[in-house]
Parts: sequence; C-alpha cells; structure tokens
Amino acid sequence: MEEEFKIYVDQLREGQEKAISESYDPQFLDLHESDLDFKKNIELKGVAYTAEDELILHWNIRAEALVACSICNEKVPVDIVIDNFYHSEPTGEIKGAVFNFKDLLRETILLEVPTFVECNEGQCPKRKEVDKYLKRSSDNKSIEDEGYQPFADLEWKP
Ligand SMILES: [Zn+2]
Repeated sequence: MEEEFKIYVDQLREGQEKAISESYDPQFLDLHESDLDFKKNIELKGVAYTAEDELILHWNIRAEALVACSICNEKVPVDIVIDNFYHSEPTGEIKGAVFNFKDLLRETILLEVPTFVECNEGQCPKRKEVDKYLKRSSDNKSIEDEGYQPFADLEWKP
C-alpha cells in the first residue's frame, strides 16, 4: 500500500516529468471522526519532476467527502476539487531519495473539507426547528436580562 505513495527521486531525470495517475482507497486518510468520512476512491493526477535541487509535485485531486450536516448531522457528499496544487521538497532533505507523499496528500485533502455543511442544498429540513429553538432561547434570555422585579405589577394607590 505504501508503495503507491512513493517517488523515487533518483529515477527522475532532470527536466523530465513523471506522470502520476492513481486512485487511492480512502482508508489511507485514517479518519476516526463521526462527522467526516470518505467512501469513494481519491483520484490523483499530476506530475513529479526535479528542478535544480527540488522535487516538484504538481497535482490535481478529486475526492468526495461525506460531511455531517451542521444542523441535523446527516452525512452530505461534498466534492473536493483541488487543481494545480504545487509542492516542492528540497531533494537533499529526502531520506534515501524516496519521497513518501502520503501525509502531504492526506493533509492537502483534509484542509479542503468545509467546516460548515448544510444538507438538502442549504435547506436542511431541521433548520426550522433549530431556528425556533434559537428564537425561544433568546426570548428566555431577554426575560432573564430584565431580572426579578417583585413589585413591577403593583399599582400605586393613594
Ligand atoms: Zn441537515
């Protein structure tokens, strides 16, 4: 499994691009979160090449994240589209001339996952309930703000 994330730098010839076209099982993302999941394969297309003392990666990534709706918690498919992602790594820092980009790919994808997602194209059916709840709790708050006024109802009678 690790093999498909590796680039053998000394096999790259200066000025020659090596094409990358891979489809990864999302297992490698190693997610253990209840509000985020990936089921479809992650597609990576791009090139790797060396330029002077740098390994350059140029990627286009396609993935589908399943993100929990921020209101009802229902999983919503979200397309992750990353075009023209560039990464450069000094070749002198690549141990054994083998660059494993698994962590880089993982982080690049996870950074693109939106933090707020609403199901049903932004019209979550539970939104009304939540709005009602939010309204009620803010009404309660204004009563609290006025404080306890035991004599407010008393009328002055001469
Ligand atoms: Zn929802």
